[in-house]
Amino acid sequence: MENKVAIVTGGSRGIGRAIAEKLSESGYDLILNYRSREEEALAVKEMLEAKGGVVEIVQADVSQFDDAKKLIQFAKKRFGRLDVLVNNAGITKDALLPLMKEDAFDQVIEVNLKGTFNCMKHAMRVMMKQKSGVMINISSVVGLMGNIGQTNYAASKAGVIGMMKSVAKEGGSFGIRANAIAPGFIKTAMTENLPENVREEMLKAIPLKDFGTAEDVANLVKFLASDDAKYITGQVINVDGGMVM
Ligand code: NAD
Repeated sequence: MENKVAIVTGGSRGIGRAIAEKLSESGYDLILNYRSREEEALAVKEMLEAKGGVVEIVQADVSQFDDAKKLIQFAKKRFGRLDVLVNNAGITKDALLPLMKEDAFDQVIEVNLKGTFNCMKHAMRVMMKQKSGVMINISSVVGLMGNIGQTNYAASKAGVIGMMKSVAKEGGSFGIRANAIAPGFIKTAMTENLPENVREEMLKAIPLKDFGTAEDVANLVKFLASDDAKYITGQVINVDGGMVM
């Protein structure tokens, strides 16, 4: 039986890298997308290939419509199919609303929301034709509850939830499932520069009294991508130590 094929956007580091590793080690043929860190993407490819995985790296800025098209079409050309799309690429540009520059709003929406649209749109055509597929959007608890200094990011992360629910409705009769994951505080480059007092305050609000790891998110992606989740679609699942309930 041929392997299933997965694309992970923004997969050269952090949560995306952990997802890429988990899917490759679970037997998926993997397309690892990166925007600028070619060396890191290559290192992940080589590491996974050494373990027997089939891994291709594809440079694409997902916020660019044609780049996203090229990324999705690569799956068709190279493997003849696309089974799983994980929309992980994301950025933050934090500022309190009165101080937030228009550009900071636009850039975050362009990558997090438009980038997810670009990839889902092109993937939908492939998955509709093959009458199967799974899409997983990496949202955030911030998209559910808002956050000081993150009006742009919260809007983008709430947006990818609305988009996912619409795709779940459009895709259901084609055997396509779509779900979102809302991570809480996960230890990655995105969060490592937060001041100590902010980290302490956040810990107080987490019932499990710890921050999450990228692998905690990757484990859920693996489950949602698999047939064990064949009756789950249109859902947002938090990986947040109980922070939001
Ligand atoms: P990260 O900054 O380590 O990784 C983000 C990745 O996305 C990077 O590899 C980056 O190069 C890539 N990327 C950015 N813009 C891109 C573009 N235009 N095209 C292609 N790739 C692009 O951050 P992370 O913590 O690993 O975050 C991964 C995802 O998880 C993001 O969507 C983030 O919003 C979300 N998230 C993270 C946390 C957390 O606590 N770390 C919490 C909730 C949600």
